Amino acid sequence: MTIDLHTHSNKSDGTDSPKELIQNAAAAGLEIVALTDHDSTEGWAEAAGAAKRADVRLIRGIEISTKLDGKSIHLLGYEFDPKNKPLLTELGKVLDGRNSRLPATLERLRGLGINIDAKDVRRHSVNAAAMGRPHVADALVELGVVANRDEAFAHYLTPGKPAYVDRYAADLVTAIQLVKAAGGRTVLAHPWSRGSKRILSKSRIASLKEIGLDGLEVDHNDHGEEDRAHLAQIARELDLVRTGSSDYHGTGKVGFDLGCNTTAYDQFRRLFG
Ligand code: AMP
Ligand code: ZN
Ligand code: FE
Ligand code: FE
Repeated sequence: MTIDLHTHSNKSDGTDSPKELIQNAAAAGLEIVALTDHDSTEGWAEAAGAAKRADVRLIRGIEISTKLDGKSIHLLGYEFDPKNKPLLTELGKVLDGRNSRLPATLERLRGLGINIDAKDVRRHSVNAAAMGRPHVADALVELGVVANRDEAFAHYLTPGKPAYVDRYAADLVTAIQLVKAAGGRTVLAHPWSRGSKRILSKSRIASLKEIGLDGLEVDHNDHGEEDRAHLAQIARELDLVRTGSSDYHGTGKVGFDLGCNTTAYDQFRRLFG
């Protein structure tokens, strides 16, 4: 059984439509795939229809932007009630924060002599319920300022770079509790990527398990061999589910191909039966 539990469509910052994503997943030999767009469940219906036709099992998911100690942490939520009011209210705040960040980002770029209009960015996010920095990156590529998304992040869009602007994110503990209360499962996405290793210590992860965390995304391209071994040990010791996923973004992220990391079936069963 080939299982990939973290992918993005163009309902957030991936480049495939949900239907194309499912078709590509089937072509890549995946039997179970989760759609986990940033902060939105917009793609679920289209993906479900395509999954039926492609004979792929769809896991309906999301990747929620959260913060712990002021640092950005991504939380994967799966198979929750998408109409749950408290969760929807919180996701609405995160989506509002994404939209209201855009003018501030464009102002920063203008200060650097780079003139991009909101509608230039919107052209790259027309299908997206969750617009983000990758869409600004696409506009920078189009203008010829940078060669690709990675370069746009490296020079302008990551914390510490001149066009980075902070935005609202849910509190991590609250987000776990909201997804659990809506009947879902929760997994920390790439827990040790981009400097989050310092705050997500074993004891911190243990306290998150106490309030409902189900698993750790151990196998992810952002983790080297050593971190994977260490995180796998933590998952074992804390009795958390170990997942592995691609974090596929279509052509938006090079080297994150569908199925490049996968989740073992016994671990999948612990989450979804
Ligand atoms: P945002 O959703 O606006 O906070 O942007 C974060 C998203 O941008 C992440 O989920 C990744 O998909 C992407 N991203 C983050 N860092 C990089 C990077 N260094 N290069 C390319 N894409 C990135
Ligand atoms: Zn993304
Ligand atoms: Fe992420
Ligand atoms: Fe992701």
